[in-house]
Amino acid sequence: MNSPVLEIAGLARSFTQGGQTIHVLRGVELAIAPGEIVALLGPSGSGKSTLLQAVGLLEGGFEGSIRIAGTEAARLDAHGRTAVRRDALGFVYQFHHLLPDFDASENVVLPQLIHGTERTPAEARATTLLTALGLGHRLTHRPSQLSGGEQQRVAVARALANRPALVLADEPTGNLDEATADVVLAEFLRLVREEGSAALVATHNERIAGKMDRVVRLHEGVLA
Ligand code: ADP
Ligand code: MG
Repeated sequence: MNSPVLEIAGLARSFTQGGQTIHVLRGVELAIAPGEIVALLGPSGSGKSTLLQAVGLLEGGFEGSIRIAGTEAARLDAHGRTAVRRDALGFVYQFHHLLPDFDASENVVLPQLIHGTERTPAEARATTLLTALGLGHRLTHRPSQLSGGEQQRVAVARALANRPALVLADEPTGNLDEATADVVLAEFLRLVREEGSAALVATHNERIAGKMDRVVRLHEGVLA
């Protein structure tokens, strides 16, 4: 494959609580090629979110190697991790985590300003992405004025705003009814493909996983 956008080796993570240690990840190995969309499938509690949090460089406490777009990210200091998150990664969570006081467009513009993009092209890109997701008429609506499916579409546009090499999505449609989830997921996958980003998408749903390019299963702390 082309130089992978994500290469995980020997990733291990355990939690100790009340003197008891649970080994959630026990040596995860995974490589994702540029533009590849991979489903991370496993039942609730299998460690999907723990794996995505490690790859998202949100917290330390794990062992192993995580190469993101060629950079060994696991060993970076906080400043370096922030730079990789900002420049190479996009995030979609189960709950949208949009900024409530800003409208849909601003929620997609702000990460671009932080990235260093000028306001005019940032606004143009926000309009393009939101329009591609059918929200061209909702640009000035705040999250509270949008439906759950619309909120998740804004979160998708925000995740793609800085053209990340890799999008990390944790049960991105898990909070939506099944019909809405199917539509939003299809739009998410189409836009990720159009943009040429790769994605790692956690889900406990076999049917949803089947829509991706490849499925990896998390079982007893390793990927099959
Ligand atoms: P999934 O996303 O697949 O449902 P998680 O990664 O959230 O699974 O959790 C995997 C296991 O790790 C669970 O048993 C959970 O209780 C445990 N776990 C996750 N985060 C923590 C934490 N911060 N402290 C203690 N245990 C945790
Ligand atoms: Mg989870």
